[in-house]
Amino acid sequence: MNGPGTAAPGGDDPRTHELAQGLDRVRARIAAAAGDRVDRPGRPVLIAVTKFFPAADVVRLHGLGVRDVGENRDQEAAAKAREVGALLGDPPTWHFVGQLQSNKARSVVRYASWVHSVDRASLVTALGTAVGRHREAVARGEAPPGPCAEQDLTCLVQVALDGEERRGGARPEDVVRLAEQIAGTDGLRAGGVMAVAPLGAPPGPAFDRLRAVSEQLQRSLPEAGAVSAGMSQDLEEAVARGATHVRVGSDVLGPRPPVG
Ligand SMILES: *Cc1c(COP(=O)(O)O)cnc(C)c1O
Repeated sequence: MNGPGTAAPGGDDPRTHELAQGLDRVRARIAAAAGDRVDRPGRPVLIAVTKFFPAADVVRLHGLGVRDVGENRDQEAAAKAREVGALLGDPPTWHFVGQLQSNKARSVVRYASWVHSVDRASLVTALGTAVGRHREAVARGEAPPGPCAEQDLTCLVQVALDGEERRGGARPEDVVRLAEQIAGTDGLRAGGVMAVAPLGAPPGPAFDRLRAVSEQLQRSLPEAGAVSAGMSQDLEEAVARGATHVRVGSDVLGPRPPVG
């Protein structure tokens, strides 16, 4: 029997043990990839993408030190954030990373601190309006505060790196304009850029293009320095090219369960 000082994280819960191993492996990969990077201080932030996995896993990850969680569908994320909020006094920071319809903005601002997938002017407007209305509802005592009551919603401009906007993302030449619109909108903060590597092409050159877009953006908005890039398959390439946030799902949580 293990004494109290020797218990593994999560004690006897096999799922916690599995998550701890996944996290250790991913953290080691990030550290190794960041090792010889000299251009940026600090480690990239690991966002655990928990889509398709239950609130209980978010709570387990929290116990393992994970404070940043990502989701890509509002309906699932909203329910999970409520559940987690009821279980934890100190809930994690929720990052919305999926394609977002404008009519979901009002829901997303109730739980998310970051939206990584802002790719058009109409969505900027919808998010700004949603934060304003949310704050009014909180002031009237009609809504629980959530992160946006006191902090501006951090918005990243999603960049299409494959020359087509099929998977979401703005054209590189539109990024500065969109970020300036974000910065000029009450309730929103321009945080930087995000991208998903194109399918069927090597990720390194794509992340080089993202870095160039980020550098150009920081010439007009120096505070918009976040670069959200890298997933289970390509986090090394992204970290080596200056990613400040990596979004990792399956290599932490395991293969996605079949959608039922
Ligand atoms: C699912 C998802 C991730 C994580 O992908 P994995 O391959 O499971 O690491 C990252 N970013 C976005 C936008 C996602 O939808």
